[in-house]
Amino acid sequence: MTGPDPAAAPSGDVAARATAGFRQRYGTQPAGRWAAPGRVNLIGEHTDYNDGFVLPFALPLRTVVAAAPGDDERWTVCSELDDDAVEFGPDEADEPGRVTGWAGYVAGVVWALRAAGHAVPGARLAIASDVPVGSGLSSSAAVESAVLAALVELGGLDLPAERWPRLAQRAENEYVGAPTGIMDQSAVIRGRAGHALFLDCRSEEVEQVPFDLDAAGLAVLVIDSRAPHRHADGEYASRRRSCEEAAQALGVAALRDVDLADLDATLDKLPDDETRRRVRHVVTEDQRVLDIVALLRAGRVRDIGPLLTASHASMRDDFEITVPEVDTAVEAALAAGAYGARMTGGGFGGCVLALVDADSADAVAAAVSTAYAERGFAAPGAVTVRPAAGAARLD
Ligand code: ADP
Ligand code: MG
Repeated sequence: MTGPDPAAAPSGDVAARATAGFRQRYGTQPAGRWAAPGRVNLIGEHTDYNDGFVLPFALPLRTVVAAAPGDDERWTVCSELDDDAVEFGPDEADEPGRVTGWAGYVAGVVWALRAAGHAVPGARLAIASDVPVGSGLSSSAAVESAVLAALVELGGLDLPAERWPRLAQRAENEYVGAPTGIMDQSAVIRGRAGHALFLDCRSEEVEQVPFDLDAAGLAVLVIDSRAPHRHADGEYASRRRSCEEAAQALGVAALRDVDLADLDATLDKLPDDETRRRVRHVVTEDQRVLDIVALLRAGRVRDIGPLLTASHASMRDDFEITVPEVDTAVEAALAAGAYGARMTGGGFGGCVLALVDADSADAVAAAVSTAYAERGFAAPGAVTVRPAAGAARLD
């Protein structure tokens, strides 16, 4: 149960599949392969747009793009997700939203590069991926980042890696039209094996924080709740609006500026209980990120467990973004011996992560499956992960 989720990806090595896809489509060998991982957020939920803190890490599950130079200013891309390739030129690339569907994520990268003044080389690309789509592990940022890495290198573009996250984010925000923060692309591009990425969403400063699960005999179990995303977009927008209105009412630039020490007095200034709970989640969640960073810096990996669980309770009771499936997964994981567990991602479905002893990961996953079956939920997926490297050329 804890190998890669068979339902999530086709079988076989992802890099080999990318090469095979390229050869099948274009009848020739690729010039190279570039990989970018999915990511999971260890802690810091709904803090990004409040100018706060997040702590994601890059996953061993990767997206690989096999690529070669193509005709001038023409881009052709195929993916395992689709029988048909998509071809586009500058006209389509330069008009946000013109290329629709999955290829929009690729066209968006071409657009963002061109908008930043780069001469993007024509290219042929083939995408293969082990990152499950739409589970909240950021398959979208993985595609953007792998494509970006390929185009930068094929074109010999002068674009230092520090600037890649912003560019990939623009592709998703402005070309595809999906409003996401800088976290996904930062983790996917800048992630490092054995580390989590502490990101200050206001300054965009990052710090690599040691997160060596293997040395501690621990594992992170990522459980795909398989819960249908119910009204997730509308709920996200309404949470965001509550936070922005609360910051305005409190006279601060963002909820990040609310001092935890004065929290009760601050909450008293707010008009209603719901807003008070929303603010309490964000302010306490920022502090939990800082507390976990301090524990990880001190090498106390196991001790982060209670903070993970406290984050879940805050999302469930104060921010109200969990659903029965994720609450069930968290409860069952804790009952089976996890040190801590929480929903990760924007909410209303997606994944749960649990910190477990490496040798009890299978038992915890089985306990979650049993709890799901008892409640009649569709079977969950589960995979153990460790922090892996960010976007890079493979060979
Ligand atoms: P996630 O949480 O996985 O990032 P999103 O809805 O943000 O979910 O992004 C998923 C979208 O990214 C897919 O619908 C598809 O358009 C694109 N995508 C992800 N993986 C691939 C892939 N292997 N090939 C082509 N497009 C992909
Ligand atoms: Mg995404």
